[in-house]
Amino acid sequence: MTDLSGKTAVVTGSTSGIGLGLAKGIAAAGANVVLNGFGDQDDIETTRKDIDDRSQGTVLYNGADMTKPGEIEALIAGSADRFGAVDIVVNNAGIQLVSPVEDFPKDRWDMIIDINMNSAFHTARAAVPGMKAKGWGRVINIASAHGLVASPFKSAYVTAKHGVVGMTKTIALEVAEDGITCNAICPGYVLTPLVEKQIPDTAQARGMTEEEVKRDVLLAAQWTKKFVTVEQLAGTALFLCSDAAENITGVALPVDGGWTAA
Ligand code: NAD
Repeated sequence: MTDLSGKTAVVTGSTSGIGLGLAKGIAAAGANVVLNGFGDQDDIETTRKDIDDRSQGTVLYNGADMTKPGEIEALIAGSADRFGAVDIVVNNAGIQLVSPVEDFPKDRWDMIIDINMNSAFHTARAAVPGMKAKGWGRVINIASAHGLVASPFKSAYVTAKHGVVGMTKTIALEVAEDGITCNAICPGYVLTPLVEKQIPDTAQARGMTEEEVKRDVLLAAQWTKKFVTVEQLAGTALFLCSDAAENITGVALPVDGGWTAA
């Protein structure tokens, strides 16, 4: 198992779903973890304490809004001040909206691009100097199978995720000689609140029942016919943090049950 003792990770959007699973996995590997994301403050504190109690490192929470560059910079700077460095950044925060392009609300387009793509630029921009100084770093961007292929009615999301894949490759090249890797994980469907929320909208947009959406839309492309789990994604992130992955950089790694192989 990857040992991350003494390292510090910031995981954006980790109060729920995939980010929470990634934060738990990284904390279990011994790292200090800074949680981030929205939600009920009491629930977040319970989650933070629970992960902290089980891990060797320290787990903190920072509520930076991923639409606000100043708050993102303060998240990275504050975490580095507290722990001495930010060694691992996991850009996971993301939202979705399912809508035909002609009806797509303009403010939602901007918000999806800000949270799903621009925030990854702001964290990397803020964290790379500290990683260079230490000669080690991991930037892990949670893109999507939708960073590699499209589906209808998700124009902002697919645009943002393709952008994240391009950003991943570019940053990887820039920092390749500094002991830093930058990779994207491209999950297929994981049954998290983000996916559960879009089932009714997809059903409406496509004129289907919700069961038909699960079977004929979500899992139609996943050849394993299984949803990806947050534990599998945490395992993938830990592998990318390991010494074995030192020469893996600039990749967009599908964890998608064969979706993008077809
Ligand atoms: P989720 O809705 O369960 O979690 C999203 C997290 O982002 C939450 O913690 C939320 O509070 C946080 N967040 C939202 N807006 C924010 C903001 N402005 N600032 C800070 N945090 C904010 O979603 P999820 O399914 O766990 O998705 C996590 C990531 O994985 C997203 O980037 C998503 O695109 C990606 N992804 C999900 C799936 C899937 O099937 N669930 C598949 C591929 C990729």
